[in-house]
Amino acid sequence: MSLQSIDEYLSYDREHIWHPYTSMSEPLPSYLVESAQGVKIKLADGRELIDGMSSWWAAIHGYNHPTLNTAIEQQLKNMSHVMFGGLSHQPAILLAEKLIDITSESLQHVFFSDSGSVAVEVAIKMAIQYWYAQGKQEKYQLLTVRNGYHGDTFAAMSVCDPVNGMHSMFKATLIEHIFAPAPECYDDGSNNIGALEQLLEKHQSTTAAIIIEPIVQGAGGMRFYCPEYLQQLRSLCDKYDVLLILDEIATGFARTGTLFAYEQANIEADILCVGKALTGGYMSLAATLTTQKVVQGIAADGSGILMHGPTFMANPLACQVANASIDLLLDSPWEKNIEQIEKQLQKELMPCKELASVNDVRVKGAIGVVELKNPVDLKAIQAKFIQKGVWIRPFNRLIYIMPPYIIKPHELTQLTSAILTILKH
Ligand SMILES: *Cc1c(COP(=O)(O)O)cnc(C)c1O
Repeated sequence: MSLQSIDEYLSYDREHIWHPYTSMSEPLPSYLVESAQGVKIKLADGRELIDGMSSWWAAIHGYNHPTLNTAIEQQLKNMSHVMFGGLSHQPAILLAEKLIDITSESLQHVFFSDSGSVAVEVAIKMAIQYWYAQGKQEKYQLLTVRNGYHGDTFAAMSVCDPVNGMHSMFKATLIEHIFAPAPECYDDGSNNIGALEQLLEKHQSTTAAIIIEPIVQGAGGMRFYCPEYLQQLRSLCDKYDVLLILDEIATGFARTGTLFAYEQANIEADILCVGKALTGGYMSLAATLTTQKVVQGIAADGSGILMHGPTFMANPLACQVANASIDLLLDSPWEKNIEQIEKQLQKELMPCKELASVNDVRVKGAIGVVELKNPVDLKAIQAKFIQKGVWIRPFNRLIYIMPPYIIKPHELTQLTSAILTILKH
């Protein structure tokens, strides 16, 4: 078989390949990419698009970065992979050291996995094993908030928003967890954490942990909330003796203006998940970090064995590019860059608020969100964005951008003006 034209490739794609959250029987169109460089994605037909998505939060340094390429090329000459059972290697050890170094003091132990969803699965296992080993097998439930997103595998899905996460379809296979209202912070400085505390009080004896995305709820609604909520949440976890799992898979590595979003609340997690931007968008890698307290708790029954071990655990190529990506970030003026992106997004997206179709506009760090009153026609609006030379992928009522940190002001303006112009017409 040989496919030649762009149309032939795309029609094979349409007939045979699932894309994220799409139908195989009635697929939406895909666009064939030839290459990507810096903040630009080049389509096979020659059109160039300014990337507003960082390939779902990941490509923070842009595409085809020489430093990241070199890291992989050099590692490739040593080895692309060895099993992690009984073997170890420098890339993983250096990455663990870096992650321990840049996260809070108490996080001292790292479990590597191959995707964010799996990092969340591992976090949940850690929490359940922690209580199990101490003879508290009844503490297996999780408490979380609505509008959360933690991944697509079953345990991760069970703590996603019950409506967005389509819990009804998988009801029989999902453990029922406890859902508090989505965090809301009010102008007078108060918030709605009282509702969560009531649930925690009621379910304390069965709750192993609270899991939440700090400061920014990503794919479950692109909602932001105040650090005070998170601070109070930490206190409640201590008061009611449950663990706190922070899912920084979307927010980690400076997206919200601090290296990790939890820093804004000045709190520490018992278990922390990172992924997405960990490798600068090059490869799939995630990590779950935890404390000495959790490690000792898991060992309380004498075994201490954490029941997980992916085949491609701590893949050396992925670890080495993660090392390079973190160095690149820390060596860059990232605080200033993100502050500038934030200011520009504020200024250039706010005019959308005047439009009748728009419900809300919000900006946090290098994230800009235009929430509409009604869901978009994805196929139609996607084509319009491409005509304007930008790659923006809305979902439902949300048009949002989180560009690579290296984006230049005039390129960012192209993204924001495409949104404004298309919404106006
Ligand atoms: C994307 C995401 C996940 C899942 O990560 P995958 O790599 O897609 O499995 C989990 N939690 C949050 C907050 C995410 O944004």
